[in-house]
Amino acid sequence: MTGVGEDWGFETRAVHAGQEPDPATGAVVPPISLSTTFAQQAVGRHRGWEYARSANPTRSALETAIASLEGARHGLAFASGLAAEDAVLRQMAPGAGVVLGGDAYGGTFRLIDKVYGASGHPWTAMDLTEPGRLAREWPAGTAIVWAESPTNPAMAVVDIAAVAEIAHAHDALLVIDNTFATPYLQQPLALGADVVVHSSTKYLGGHSDVVGGCIALDDDDLAAKIGFIQNAVGAVPSPVDCYLVQRGLKTLPIRMDRHSDNARAVVEVLTDHPAVARVLWPGLPGHPGHDVAKRQMRDFGGMVSFVLRGGEPAAIAVVEATRVFTLAESLGAVESLIEHPGRMTHSSAAGSPLEVDPALVRLSVGIETAADLVADLRQALDTVT
Ligand code: PLP
Repeated sequence: MTGVGEDWGFETRAVHAGQEPDPATGAVVPPISLSTTFAQQAVGRHRGWEYARSANPTRSALETAIASLEGARHGLAFASGLAAEDAVLRQMAPGAGVVLGGDAYGGTFRLIDKVYGASGHPWTAMDLTEPGRLAREWPAGTAIVWAESPTNPAMAVVDIAAVAEIAHAHDALLVIDNTFATPYLQQPLALGADVVVHSSTKYLGGHSDVVGGCIALDDDDLAAKIGFIQNAVGAVPSPVDCYLVQRGLKTLPIRMDRHSDNARAVVEVLTDHPAVARVLWPGLPGHPGHDVAKRQMRDFGGMVSFVLRGGEPAAIAVVEATRVFTLAESLGAVESLIEHPGRMTHSSAAGSPLEVDPALVRLSVGIETAADLVADLRQALDTVT
């Protein structure tokens, strides 16, 4: 970290990490550095930046902030969440395998199955909410255990410390996709994970106006390997994209508090509604991962899923009936979104062990007035009752 106290609170670091006033002008918001190349005083002698794919000041600032917020030694920014995931997977030795949780973002499944699986990296899907099963059925040759918590879209909770212990006993890495929780609600590295990945398109950016991804990790050698891939492959974010994610980070804590509070209100109406068979949110005491979530998360976040009694037809009808919730893919921004994962974000998992219940609806609860969100959902659910 440059200039930011490591003992400062999360909110202070969210505002200040990587954001010292510009030494040339005093600008409190450092300028977006668009230059693709940087003057050298002599051959190979420069101020740390040579060519903007390798590094540029705006990306460096974001990487400093990501590392600070995840409590990591290293942060790396990418052009998308999947580009970040690809960089982690790409450093595997030839033939090394992946264990993927039983529920995950459809694009992550597609990358592990269709890209890495197709090029000789075997994968196994396993319900990681039962760490004992992973210990008993450890697939030989596994180099990476890949888990989301909470998972997309079934909102399952994985005991990160327990799974890390099992992975480490087999010299494998535990990668946690922290997109749903964000570093404000959950700190996977402190719980024992080796690598954190994010789609910064979601809560980190927070405003549905930038696609990005990032990685945070402690291990210097692994960071060097992934940093090499970042530069050699070149799936890097533009300086403007880095700026947008950095701006989002500054309000991450207050947004996450509001997302969590609004989710609490929404969950109440869902739980009471006769059209709903099951509500999936780790804040509910009846959720199978509630105790683990309470232990490893500060609050339960703004992602909520629910299963309709009327099956897929009811799910489709509800997602098409809301007015404040917009029917759209993606998540994690200020506006509330609703979607049908089976036909939308997770269609690539159809026919696989990660296939999503067609009666499932996923909400990304935004930061609007809670009463408006509740009323909107109630009227949409009433249409299928
Ligand atoms: N991880 C999770 C949990 C996601 O929901 C997504 C996208 O929806 C990704 C990773 C991929 O990120 P991106 O769309 O930025 O490539």
